[in-house]
Amino acid sequence: MEAVNRKDFCPRNAFIDNPESIGYGATISAPHMHGYALEMLEPYLRPGMKALDIGSGSGYLSACMAHMVGERGKVVGVEHIKELVEASIRNCRKSHSEWIDNGLLKLIEGDGRLGYKSEGPYDCIHVGAAAPSKPDALIDQLNSPGRLFIPVGTTDQAIVIYDKDKDGKVSEKKWLGVQYVLLTDASTQKARLY
Ligand code: SAH
Repeated sequence: MEAVNRKDFCPRNAFIDNPESIGYGATISAPHMHGYALEMLEPYLRPGMKALDIGSGSGYLSACMAHMVGERGKVVGVEHIKELVEASIRNCRKSHSEWIDNGLLKLIEGDGRLGYKSEGPYDCIHVGAAAPSKPDALIDQLNSPGRLFIPVGTTDQAIVIYDKDKDGKVSEKKWLGVQYVLLTDASTQKARLY
């Protein structure tokens, strides 16, 4: 996290341990949550590995993942608000333009509930917004072995870690109690602002 300057991605209070608004009804997650996610996914973010970051928002976590997997690896960030995708690319270009230019980091507009099949399978998948129930479409896009980090639930949420072993068998572990916004439609999210 020290290798990627959070200030490039977070307009205000970059180094306070809180979520901060980035517009369009979205926030950049608090630094401690980014830390938990990267630590939990670290065995699947080794040099040369491939990661998917859903709800990539500001682009900060995707950029941290790009730093970890290095130039032989790949990170795909999927965000459904077009303006945030454009901002995340601008944010990343401030200090790491080469990651965008050489394709190590691809930040795209799309509905992350479907994952991003064409670049899969992924060694790990991180989701920055909550799924109401077991995210089968994303589990399908995990490599064997692979790990998915996702908040699950509506009012009562927890981070759930889905691990796929080398034979494709999936196990799940409820981890930390959390409060994330739900994965939603772009139009619903924007409508909430007015
Ligand atoms: N991890 C990011 C953002 C976390 S906020 C960061 O720390 O900067 C959750 C993000 O998920 C928001 O940017 C929101 O727009 C996005 N989101 C919500 N539903 C989505 C969906 N269906 N597909 C893609 N992105 C979605």
